[in-house]
Order: sequence, then C-alpha cells, then structure tokens
Amino acid sequence: MEKDLDQYLIHTYNRSVIFEKGEDVYLYDDQGKKYLDMGAGIAVSALGYSNEEFKQGVKDQVDKLIHISNLYYTKPVLCAAQYLAEASGMDRVFFTNSGTEAIEGALKLARKYAYLKNEDSKGEIIAMEHSFHGRSMGAVSVTGTKHYREAFEPLIGGVSFAVYNDLESVKKLVTKDTCAILLETVQGEGGIYPASEEFLKGIRRLCDENDIAMILDEIQCGMGRTGKMFAYEHYGILPDIMTSAKALGNGVPVGAFAAVEKFAEAMCPGDHGTTYGGNPLAAAAVCKVFEIFKKKGIPCHVQEISSYFFEKLKALAEKYPSVITEVRGKGLLIGLEVSCPNGEIVKKAMEKGLVLLTAGSNVVRIAPPLVIEKEQIDACLQILDGIFSEL
Ligand SMILES: *Cc1c(COP(=O)(O)O)cnc(C)c1O
Repeated sequence: MEKDLDQYLIHTYNRSVIFEKGEDVYLYDDQGKKYLDMGAGIAVSALGYSNEEFKQGVKDQVDKLIHISNLYYTKPVLCAAQYLAEASGMDRVFFTNSGTEAIEGALKLARKYAYLKNEDSKGEIIAMEHSFHGRSMGAVSVTGTKHYREAFEPLIGGVSFAVYNDLESVKKLVTKDTCAILLETVQGEGGIYPASEEFLKGIRRLCDENDIAMILDEIQCGMGRTGKMFAYEHYGILPDIMTSAKALGNGVPVGAFAAVEKFAEAMCPGDHGTTYGGNPLAAAAVCKVFEIFKKKGIPCHVQEISSYFFEKLKALAEKYPSVITEVRGKGLLIGLEVSCPNGEIVKKAMEKGLVLLTAGSNVVRIAPPLVIEKEQIDACLQILDGIFSEL
C-alpha cells in the first residue's frame, strides 16, 4: 500500500495513514477510524479542528481577496503585523510562507545589520548542536544535525555550532565577525530541551556586550505552546530577532520574522521580499488566531492543563521506570525519553488510535492542540499505559 501511494511522490517521508478530516482534537482516516491527536500536525493546529470562528474568518477572506502580492497594503496584513509585534515585544514584522523562510529572513537581517557596521564583516553565525531550523539551504546550514546537512554541502559558510545550555561553549566561538547567535528557546526536533535560565540570560548579555543579534527560533515553542505567548517570556528577556510559524496560522501556511527597531531598520526596500508571504488569506488566519487566543485565554489554559499532564506523565514514568527514562518540556511541548525505539511507540499508538510524534532518536514528542481538555489527556494516558505495559 505504501509503495503505491508514493508512486508520484518523492519519497521523503515514511507515511502510512490517509487522514480525511478533523473534529475538535480528533482526526479521522479514510476508513473512518478515529484518532486522538497529540501531534497537531507538528505543533500547528493549536485551536484544534472545529473552531468555527477561525474557519469562518478564513472563508470570509477567500471571498474578499486571497492574494495581491506584497506590492500593496492590505488590512489583514496590517492587523496581523500589529498583533504579532505587540505579542512578541518586537517592533516590526516580515511575513513568510513557512518557518524555514522565517529563518532565512532572520539570518539575512542579522547579516545586513553587521554589514552596515562593517562592509568587511564575515557575517559569522553561531548555532547550536541538535538544533532544527528548517530545510532550505540557509536553515539547513544552521541546523545542528549532521545528517540533515551532509549530503547538501556546500552550505552557507561562517556557521559554527555550540553546545546547547553550555554558555562557555558559545563564548569560545564568538569572534569580531560574529553577527548572530541563533537558538530555539526550547529545542524541539532535537529532543525537547528547554533552555536553562542561566544560558538564555548569558546569551542575552553576550549579544549585548558584542552588539550581536540574538535570534530566538520560536517556530515550534511559540504561540502559546509553553504556556506563554512566546517561550522567552518565561525568562524575562527579549531577543533582537525572533521567528514564528507553525501555530501562527493554525494550519494556513504562514511564518514570520520580527525584530526590534535597531535591527529592523537595517533592511530597506529591495533587500528582501516574497510573492506570497503573508498574503491576505494567510494574514486573515493570523489575525483570527490572535483574536481567538485572547478570547479563550489559551496560554493560561495551557499552563493549567500542562501541570495536570506532567503530573500524570511523571506517575506513568514511575510505573515504567525501565522504559520511560525522563519526562521533560514546557507547557504542551512534552518529551518522553524512552529506552526502546521511539518510532515503535508511535506506530503502536497509531494502531490504538493515538497520534504521537517523535523527536531526536529516543524521545516521544507530545504536542497536542492547545485546546485539549483533561478527559482527552486521560484517554491519551490510558492508551500510553496500554502500550508501555505491552513492551
Ligand atoms: C518546524 C520548525 C522549523 C521549520 O519550519 P517549516 O515551516 O517546516 O519550514 C524551524 N524551526 C523550528 C524550531 C521548527 O520546529
């Protein structure tokens, strides 16, 4: 079956199920089988699948104007930019189609800022081992997993990798040519590792002292996922540049990079652009997401439900100490480190009607729609208990 379905697709994923529709926090495949969704399309569908206000907002914009290019203003874009700037603490926003493009833009902005100070700047970038920033050439160049990079070299130059949560390892790499330090506030694909407070504040200081752009990738951990609109709010710092995507459009493809004025003003007309990026349809989705987040108090809900979830998962880990070696994460971005192949657990869960994700080589990633309720968490735990008891 898999082979047939991939006949016309370049085989970059190992897929099995055909999903047909979503309702609330459940998905249905083409056989009508129901799944509890603990993946949210990789931390995207924060509002679940039945938010009528969101859907209506998108439909209304389809009727008005889907696309016009960034040669012109539209009201949804102006509105979305204001919402994102105010929520993130940044001054100016540029919308993209995806996360990887947000990273590209953030890197270009950091290099332009350095170039304006010194035209001979080498524009060096410090990124982190085990990071993930996307699949386009620039983003792959700063992704700290060799497997994602190796076959695609030569990549962009001037990138070095430090050890996440090890400030000394970052300091050692800073040179007069360093223009940016890039990291995820919570490493996602790499295995769900939140930054330590000491590390993030240390990088903030390091960037201030050397006039380097601190870029925080909030593509996965932002938009309420950790119980704050953006994960860096937990640390009481602001980056100079931040990236967003995934839940930003609740499934309508959109990303963004945003910056404080000092950096944002380095870009001038002609420096960067995109035909689709943040078109009226995508921007209308972003506006709706912010409005619904506010109305429903999503970050607060995440904080409450997350402590319940963590408590139960820790109890599960105590029940199966030889299989679950750690429970970590923030809010509803949760990693279960396991001693057996994580892919096998995800597969077994699919059979039992539970959608899970993997992260790294030994972590089961849980990233449900943010509107998840206690009963659904209980159902998830019951299925997990069944899986672990069979191992
Ligand atoms: C998913 C992700 C990206 C890439 O986003 P795409 O929309 O897939 O290009 C970048 N950074 C992080 C932290 C991500 O989780």
